[in-house]
Amino acid sequence: MPVSTLDKFRGAMLGGAVGDAIGELASAHSDLDSLTDWISEGDVLRYTDDTAMSIGLAEALSMSGGAINEEEIGKIFQRNYGREPWRDYSSSVPAIFASAKRHDMPFSEAAARLHDGTGSFGNGAAMRIAPLGILYRNSDKLRDCAEQSARITHAHAVGIYGAAIMAWAVAQLANLDPKSKFPFAEFCTGIVRFAQTKEMRLKLVQVVELIASKASPKNAAKTLTLSQSVAESLPYSLYSFLSNMKSFEDCLYCAILQGGDRDTLGSMAGALSGSFLGAKAIPKDWISRIENLDTLEDLAKRLNGLSV
Ligand SMILES: [Mg+2]
Repeated sequence: MPVSTLDKFRGAMLGGAVGDAIGELASAHSDLDSLTDWISEGDVLRYTDDTAMSIGLAEALSMSGGAINEEEIGKIFQRNYGREPWRDYSSSVPAIFASAKRHDMPFSEAAARLHDGTGSFGNGAAMRIAPLGILYRNSDKLRDCAEQSARITHAHAVGIYGAAIMAWAVAQLANLDPKSKFPFAEFCTGIVRFAQTKEMRLKLVQVVELIASKASPKNAAKTLTLSQSVAESLPYSLYSFLSNMKSFEDCLYCAILQGGDRDTLGSMAGALSGSFLGAKAIPKDWISRIENLDTLEDLAKRLNGLSV
């Protein structure tokens, strides 16, 4: 039986949250044995800013019926940050909120002032975008909506278009049946064509070459590099998914065990795998222990009920 659309929405939301939380654990327990020992302790799986902002985006989309209103989304990000500022946010996020308030300007204009006016090319817009990607999976507005949602915090072209690539990938994967042959060539050609910046295009070509040559995770991480730039983290999450597309667990462990920005690598890889395989492929024990499971499940259900 094909994976239901609801299970794909659940996979995007829960996969991202589980990946974020286990990726964060891997920052302290960086080898597989120690990480799995720690996970099996049975504690609550605590997510970070990636999931907090993904929840904020999903809340905004469900309240607006799927429409993108940058200021309204930004206000929900700001409200959620105010409630839980300890979720390991980048310092850019409160800086944008403060600057927007001080100068009475839209969040996107405040974001454009960051880094001496170049804006951020970090992975913060990509890490939260899975709910939008899956909601707009069949819409020709996917690119525009993804870019608008990114501009609330990211003004640099790499940051904006990197988020759009993540949204595109989630959209494609949500529309594919994991039991059918994966259209590898079509997916790879499509994602490289979709990329708007030279930096990301080159990295995506490298991902395809690394998969084709069956490069190890260690070599892939070394080639792609794993910084907080979206051009140096999203490609490795894509590599992790494409080289482990049958298993959520293998995809996640691949994404988080080579260093770098582990919670975000895990969050993006988890959302990619979850959008493809559906939430039923995520270990039940992991799902049962994720923080705020009811909220995540409710948002998945509400987004699944929207049409855009
Ligand atoms: Mg984080």
